[in-house]
Order: sequence, then C-alpha cells, then structure tokens
Amino acid sequence: MYKMKGIIYKVDLGGEIYVGSTTTKLSKRQANHNSDLRKGKFTDKHKLYSKCVEKNIENIKCIWVEDYNFQKIEHLRQREEYYRKNFNEIVGCSILNTNRCKNSYKDDLDSNKKHKEKGAERRKILDKYRSSIRYSCLYCKEELSLQHRTRHERTQRHCNNILDDVLDKWDFNKNNLIYNKCL
Ligand SMILES: [Zn+2]
Repeated sequence: MYKMKGIIYKVDLGGEIYVGSTTTKLSKRQANHNSDLRKGKFTDKHKLYSKCVEKNIENIKCIWVEDYNFQKIEHLRQREEYYRKNFNEIVGCSILNTNRCKNSYKDDLDSNKKHKEKGAERRKILDKYRSSIRYSCLYCKEELSLQHRTRHERTQRHCNNILDDVLDKWDFNKNNLIYNKCL
C-alpha cells in the first residue's frame, strides 16, 4: 500500500525548532543542509540558514523523529505539519519554518465541520423517525412514540406494571416463573 519511505527530522536551534522531512538518508539530508548553509541561502524561503548565522550555528544537526511511509508527497508534508503543531502546542517549542502544505490544516477543519454537520443532520432524521414510529408497551398496554421510550421505561408506573406482570407469573411455591403463563 505504501510506496515511499520518508523520514521526519528536526533541527534544534536553541529554543526554536525546524521540522523537515526527507526521502533520502538523514545523513545525506544533513550534508545538503550544511552545504546550503555554506552557500549562504539566506532568503525568506530559507529561514533555517539565516537563523543559523544569527545564532552562530556552523553545523546543522538533523535529529531523527520518525520513519514515515507514504503514498503521496502531500502526506509526508502533512506529517511534518503534524509534528510542527505537536512540538508547538504540546512541547511548547516555537517553530521556525511554516507549513509547507498550506491547505491541509484548513482542509482538516473543513472536513471536520462537514462531518459534524452530517452528524447533526443524521440525528435530526433519527429523531424524526423515532417520533414518527410508535410502539406499544406490553406492560402498560399503551401506545407510545419510540422517541419517548427510554423516558417511559423509567417511570414508576411502567416499573410497577412490570412488577405486577412478574408477580402474576410467579409461582410462590416453586419460587419460579409459572411457565405456561409465560408463553
Ligand atoms: Zn410501560
């Protein structure tokens, strides 16, 4: 099912964390980062390197976080984003780089919302169904809407009727149900 192997890694920049992913060996990715650092890629797109210069970090160290198999590169990016959020919200680190899959978080929220709306819609249908269906309580000899069944079954009257019914079928000599009455 999974076609590609990826690795999620982080770079600790003393208080700030960079989260990345790669499909190559981590040592190779680390070497590439360091080569880019020496080439001086200090644009907005490469905050990692400008931060290294700012903090006098001459050697970037990629710390392994997780092996992650994936089918589409977006999934690997989403996994990165998952860790960014986790390191930020749970561990409390500030994250240097921003989301590389801008839509994924919003998409998650949207699909959550749709899910909730769908759930509410289904509950409405179920309520409507339950209020339209009637059933008769065997003990109370009464017709009720299915919607109120639970409430009805908790009433004293209903419990008394069950008790009456059981007592009616109970053989006190044998301390057992009178079977022919049960049928
Ligand atoms: Zn009843």
